Amino acid sequence: MCIFCKIVNKEIPSNLVLEDDDFYAFHDINPKAPVHILVIPKVHVDSFNEISSELMGKMTPFIQRVATHVGIEKSGYRVITNIGDDGGQEVKHLHFHVLGGAKLTWSHFTDADPKDYL
Ligand code: 5GP
Ligand code: ZN
Repeated sequence: MCIFCKIVNKEIPSNLVLEDDDFYAFHDINPKAPVHILVIPKVHVDSFNEISSELMGKMTPFIQRVATHVGIEKSGYRVITNIGDDGGQEVKHLHFHVLGGAKLTWSHFTDADPKDYL
């Protein structure tokens, strides 16, 4: 069983933000912003590549609820999902990073010159 499935099953402790029948939101253990929450489906889905439109259709309003719940829906926030090796996905259970609580820059992502990739 993967690490995030174990978190859903409470075999590994986590700092819960919000949950419903389908989704679980908890604080990232290594936050990259004042607010850094991970939102995951309770069923194991490897990545964004595999999620059904039906589950994604439910996940969108849940992520919006999470943002409202922690009070960043007006100040703004960023939603990111990393996919596969080039996307930098370390945990192979689909998760959306919800980042906020400060004015975010692209500096996390732009250490390299984009021209390097052309
Ligand atoms: P990825 O790099 O796969 O997009 O993001 C994985 C995220 O999961 C990282 O931000 C990392 O800090 C977080 N993470 C990994 N293991 C745990 C854990 O056991 N508990 C919590 N709360 N976060 C975790
Ligand atoms: Zn899993």
